[in-house]
Amino acid sequence: MSGSPMSLSFDVVVIGGGHAGCEAAAAAARTGARTALVSQNLATIGTMSCNPAIGGLGKGHLVREIDALDGIMGRVADRAGIQFRVLNRRKGPAVRGPRAQADRKLYRQAMQEALSLQPGLTLIAGEVFGLEIAGERVAAVTLADGRRLACGAAVLTTGTFLRGLIHIGDERVPAGRIGEAPSHGLAAALESRGFVLGRLKTGTPPRLDGHTLHLDRLDRQPGDAEPEPFSSLTARIETEQRDCFITRTTAETHAIIRGDLHRAPLFSGAITGRGPRYCPSIEDKVTRFADRDSHQIFLEPEGLDDPTFYPNGISTSLPRDTQDRLVRSIPGCEAAVITQHGYAIEYDFVDPRELTPALEAKRLAGLYLAGQINGTTGYEEAAAQGLVAGLNAARRAGGSDAVTFSRQDSYIGVMVDDLVTRGVTEPYRMFTSRAEYRLTLRADNADQRLTRKGLAWGCVGPERAAAFAAKRHALEQARGLVDRLSATPQQLALRGIPVAQDGVRRSAFALLSYPAVDSETLAGIWPELAGIAPSVMAQVEADAKYAVYLDRQDAEIARAQDDEGVRLAVDLDYRGLPGLSRELADKLGTIRPETLGQAQRIEGMTPAALTLLIAKGRAGRKAPAGLRA
Ligand code: FAD
Repeated sequence: MSGSPMSLSFDVVVIGGGHAGCEAAAAAARTGARTALVSQNLATIGTMSCNPAIGGLGKGHLVREIDALDGIMGRVADRAGIQFRVLNRRKGPAVRGPRAQADRKLYRQAMQEALSLQPGLTLIAGEVFGLEIAGERVAAVTLADGRRLACGAAVLTTGTFLRGLIHIGDERVPAGRIGEAPSHGLAAALESRGFVLGRLKTGTPPRLDGHTLHLDRLDRQPGDAEPEPFSSLTARIETEQRDCFITRTTAETHAIIRGDLHRAPLFSGAITGRGPRYCPSIEDKVTRFADRDSHQIFLEPEGLDDPTFYPNGISTSLPRDTQDRLVRSIPGCEAAVITQHGYAIEYDFVDPRELTPALEAKRLAGLYLAGQINGTTGYEEAAAQGLVAGLNAARRAGGSDAVTFSRQDSYIGVMVDDLVTRGVTEPYRMFTSRAEYRLTLRADNADQRLTRKGLAWGCVGPERAAAFAAKRHALEQARGLVDRLSATPQQLALRGIPVAQDGVRRSAFALLSYPAVDSETLAGIWPELAGIAPSVMAQVEADAKYAVYLDRQDAEIARAQDDEGVRLAVDLDYRGLPGLSRELADKLGTIRPETLGQAQRIEGMTPAALTLLIAKGRAGRKAPAGLRA
């Protein structure tokens, strides 16, 4: 750091201390960039704006991938988690999702501590107002109080704060989230540079005072008996664990909502931004699914020493008095006192098609965008983008080439590709169904897919490097053992494992591919298998179960990577390509796909247009790579 107190200098300046900002700042600093994280209020760094939970289906995969690259979200969630559950445990390993209910305060504290311990990272309290540009490139970030932070690259992660507007009934309050001022200066700065902004909406439920709930009348939902950490660096979960509770809306709840729909900003026309279809408000659910007389609600504790409960499933922006009545019509909540009413928030986002796959703005070199500002929703989606943006901002500041993720190597790659290629029409959230290579992209093998890449990029520290090497060794040993151990059909039949009596010896690995055979069954035959660490055995077992399909998927991945290997020039004149429709030429000109694979995924792309692009792309062919460094 250098310069006068009014003008400091960094390699990377990260704007915003939410989930994207924290991960971006940590990633940039890990690679050795002198990094500053600027946020309006340092005490709110790591705040969970909505539900106190990390992970889940698709999202849990993202957390494991962040962890594989030595990011911090997984380790922080492990310290703050008060209920761990692996969702879809009974389904295949590819769609299992690790999830943890988190203590809000512990999460914030653990995140702030992780950042304070990160060498090369300076935390600065202040409101960023504008960007200084020199020669078509970001040169500095300017603060509302006049301070100037010179930088080689900046990462913008302002979440729901750009022209944020909160709605509760007919109340409207300009805010970034409840109790925090919105950001107007930055929205104007982006607009003046020609960025295409859109408007989205999200919502949150009322919070309930746990002392006023009759939890004893409700079904309990405990966590897993053996909590499974997110991070491969967490040996075990030490935090006290808590139960959640399950209740439901009633016919009375629905009648109250229907009676007051005319007072709901969603229906009165006061809200114009588009909300997430898959995470609708309760007024939306009651209207859209009119035939259903009840909706499930999870009552989730917000912390160990916090009596607040989060009623997951009744996000709403109905007026306060309606919220009071509707909550009290729910079993277990008859005497509930609301400590904070639910609300909806509208905010500006930047069309993510404005970004490259490294999350750098195409119209302004050195500016990276990550998180809700790109039209996504969710902490994990934000953090994963933060890592991509922070890593690349550090590389740009240090003069290195961008690194990108692919749909073949990670959920991070799937998300970034979806965003920059297709854009968003509603808040984007991760689902396992978005990934075409689900069998390869499992939560259990994130480290095997990504840690080596992270090591090459310099964002993985020595502790993880050692743990990774040890796990690889253990995996090789385990795999060697299950390949070596074998038994005849007769021996197996005697052990209660029926296989065809064809005289062929079967290895333990081959046996693991049978649906009814698991590692525990085999440990009954070969006790040495019981000595393998459960996380290592789980991965070997998943590889065995999917072996046949994985071979097929590998072939598909190789084909897809071939298309990713055909580069398209960034300055290609699409309007000048004879035979290309005006509409497609304009779309291609806006998105400027970097590879043939990316072009293929653009909405409305035709085989004829692709043939034209292939001819153009031949000159730019390069060796296929899942990830380019
Ligand atoms: P945020 O976590 O919002 O962080 C933004 C950061 O930028 C803050 O630290 C802020 O102080 C800082 N900042 C803003 N402007 C400036 C400035 N000018 N200068 C300096 N610092 C600045 N997600 C779900 O998955 N499910 C849900 O149901 C859900 N509901 C939500 C309901 C509400 C009301 C809100 C607000 C969010 C909800 N979310 C939900 C979204 C989730 O909270 C976000 O996706 C996630 O927090 C985004 O992380 P982020 O880092 O992009 O932004």
